Amino acid sequence: MTGLRELAAAFGTPLYVYDLAEARRCAEELRSDLPAGAKLFYSVKANPHPEVAETLRLSGCGAEISSLGELEVALAAGFPAEDLMYTGPAKTASEILAAARAGVRSFSTESPIDFRRIAAGAEQAGIEAEVLLRVAGTARGASGLRMTGGASQFGHPIDALTADPGAFQDIKGASLTGLHHFSVSNVSDESALIDELTSAVRLSAELRDRLGLQLRSLDLGGGFAAPYAIGTAPPAYPRLKTELEQALDECLPAWRRGDPSIAFESGRRLTATCGTLVAEVMDVKLSQGARYVVLDTGINHLGGLSGTGRMMRPKVELTVLGRPDPAASGLRAVVTGPLCTPADVLSFDAAVPDVVPGDLVAIRNVGAYGLSASLTGFLSRPMPIEVPVDSSGAVRAGRLRLRREPVAMRYEPREGQHDDVY
Ligand SMILES: *Cc1c(COP(=O)(O)O)cnc(C)c1O
Repeated sequence: MTGLRELAAAFGTPLYVYDLAEARRCAEELRSDLPAGAKLFYSVKANPHPEVAETLRLSGCGAEISSLGELEVALAAGFPAEDLMYTGPAKTASEILAAARAGVRSFSTESPIDFRRIAAGAEQAGIEAEVLLRVAGTARGASGLRMTGGASQFGHPIDALTADPGAFQDIKGASLTGLHHFSVSNVSDESALIDELTSAVRLSAELRDRLGLQLRSLDLGGGFAAPYAIGTAPPAYPRLKTELEQALDECLPAWRRGDPSIAFESGRRLTATCGTLVAEVMDVKLSQGARYVVLDTGINHLGGLSGTGRMMRPKVELTVLGRPDPAASGLRAVVTGPLCTPADVLSFDAAVPDVVPGDLVAIRNVGAYGLSASLTGFLSRPMPIEVPVDSSGAVRAGRLRLRREPVAMRYEPREGQHDDVY
């Protein structure tokens, strides 16, 4: 891969570099950890960069999408519409219609209301949607149809399903053809992941048998872990394939003939390690004894979710380009960005050597939920430059832009009746 310093010199900072060969390698590695012949969907929300998505398509992935923007990304990246699965808890009638018209057939449904909306949109588009019912929680370790896991807006609760199995009866425009699970994310402990996924296999077989559900396809979701803005390697899953195949052989013995077909999903495992954010040190200062290193990038470009304290306490690790291991100096710093908010912290306590303005730093493993999960509109700063790099060294740099556009009123207010509009 072309050197980060050369790329920063050529394009400037802040700069996201996506190593496409690494994304390919991740897809190969994850596929080799999964049951033979299983389909793997790339969850576009992790990184909707068109060339990252295209690389994963060429590596044999389908795409899991959840908005018309992601549909556009997936189609532009060359995914055939039949390799897309449309998911999410609030699909509107117009987006379902647009997706169906674009050729999407496979939808995941979250509720009876959502199911009827899918059916209506599909019918209007003149197609028959194949719908997977997303199941909330799993019956981990349980023999019966007991639901565990917390309350959430995702999926249909198992108890509601057993109480009213007819809620998803085929209607014009949609038929229920399988089940979808996605109850965990970022599970680095292999035993816990195996437990979760094999429970989902067992639960699916049980739901099919007891409730007479169709099970032509089974999407087991994922939960595959990856590092986020720190240097650690992703966990290995050496037993996963064998254990999953055993559970499938036991509970759904025809799965090897595609009955049901088996699918998985991943965003972070496929893209986390391909991305590096390169930034410039703008300022170094002391505040009440603490050293602050101020970068030209912050939560507008990286980890906006953690920046608002919603998900993870920020703790990015920096590599200073052209310097030895930052930990060797023993120096620590608070690493912040350029935004006018105290929330713009990338790490409260990072190993950072004695940097000076102009030094370049790299934050590794930010190819997933880096830019895509950030507060890109806050403070109206430019987006970072993004540059995919492939093994031949070819680069095509670009940058997203937020633009305001006029929106026509839905209804013209009539004279003296302005209140109607609201
Ligand atoms: C976000 C999401 C994923 C991807 O999650 P990762 O942790 O990035 O693998 C997969 N499936 C669904 C339904 C999701 O919402």
